[in-house]
Amino acid sequence: MFSKILIANRGEIACRIIATARRLGVATVAVHSEADRRARHVALADEAVLIGPAPAAESYLCADKVIAAAKRSGAEAIHPGYGFLSENAAFAEAIEAAGLVFIGPPAEAIRAMGSKATSKALMDQAGVPLVPGYHGADQDPVGLARAAQEIGFPVLVKASAGGGGKGMRVVHDPADLGAAIEGAGREAKAAFGDDRLLIEKYLGRPRHVEVQVFADAHGNAVHLFERDCSLQRRHQKVIEEAPAPDLPDEVRQRMGAAAVAAARAIGYRGAGTVEFLCQDGGFFFIEMNTRLQVEHPVTEMITGLDLVEWQLRVAAGEPLPLAQEAITATGHAFEARLYAEDPGRDFLPAAGWISHLAFPPADPHTRIDSGVVEGDRVSVHYDPMLAKLIVWDRDRASALRRLKSALAATRLAGLETNLAFLNAVAGHPAFARGGIDTGFLDRERETLI
Ligand code: ADP
Repeated sequence: MFSKILIANRGEIACRIIATARRLGVATVAVHSEADRRARHVALADEAVLIGPAPAAESYLCADKVIAAAKRSGAEAIHPGYGFLSENAAFAEAIEAAGLVFIGPPAEAIRAMGSKATSKALMDQAGVPLVPGYHGADQDPVGLARAAQEIGFPVLVKASAGGGGKGMRVVHDPADLGAAIEGAGREAKAAFGDDRLLIEKYLGRPRHVEVQVFADAHGNAVHLFERDCSLQRRHQKVIEEAPAPDLPDEVRQRMGAAAVAAARAIGYRGAGTVEFLCQDGGFFFIEMNTRLQVEHPVTEMITGLDLVEWQLRVAAGEPLPLAQEAITATGHAFEARLYAEDPGRDFLPAAGWISHLAFPPADPHTRIDSGVVEGDRVSVHYDPMLAKLIVWDRDRASALRRLKSALAATRLAGLETNLAFLNAVAGHPAFARGGIDTGFLDRERETLI
């Protein structure tokens, strides 16, 4: 095991990684921007290194500054968390070139999955079912329009380099296709510096179900069951749960096997998530995320495993702690994301001073992963997610009761948050029934604000 690691991130995920490192006796180095001098992750780490001014492009996204900080502090490995540099293949390569260990997959695996088009081609070869569509190299608008005709409307135009729901357009009417291709291309160019697009059949009412996978350097690959992340606002996850409600066991098993096949097909190592859309009894690959996901705690709650510990062990060269047969799931877990945003103003990110903050006490049923404490100033420079409330109980109905009481016991004053919105969602009868589709929240939005 490593004796010291650097965490190239901030907020709740940096704090969460520090917690596991500490439990394993691994020393931690935090990096931070000038705006984050007094941030929770800096206070929790054993050491901290200032790497630049507030804008992420001048601090958290500067690979060379992060690597220099690791070298200087004597850290042996770098954990990228999620977001920032976590899915940057050049960053992974630069870390290895500097003689350090990247706590994540091989750079080639990141590259293979970084493009939705390349990954779909690879998954097709590996026999993983895909959403019908076009993911070829020809980007001529006339060719794309022909592909859309063949797929049949409605279609979804997607940025190949996309993430976070950016660069996506649903097109119902062929007459709108040209504008959608242009708009999605422009947005993709601005966000990812890459305007290549793919076109998919737009599924009417799919559920988003994803499988957690893990692989080591010794040829072992397993899955840790699935998470249902259908509760989304504009393609961004709001509340996640595990296991997926009402998923037939036979489908669950086939999805798990497909996800492991996906990981094996690209020589994967470490933690990854294979995302599928489910509709009419079928499941279809959409993308693989080559990092730890925001919603990994729901998997930890039902399996009793620590995914960050597994990441550290695999990165240190150890074999996976458990074989597939030894991984079991019990009960049900939910995670709600607390955002600094104003539902009354189209969910605009909010900034300000947290004058009061109270979470329910942590216990075996309730876990709070927070990046902030009372008195913190929330800036507009970073992702507006402040904390995650995670609950577990023996069945879904009991876990949902726990989620509602955890949300009701949470208080945050000083800036706008989505707390009331989360309370309303958790109390919605359709959510209580389970199995809602990815469009539910956007359709019900007006009744929930
Ligand atoms: P991103 O990388 O931007 O998150 P994804 O491809 O993972 O994009 O898709 C994000 C979400 O968009 C999915 O969870 C789902 O809600 C919706 N989505 C993606 N592809 C389709 C599709 N073909 N049909 C319907 N909805 C889709």
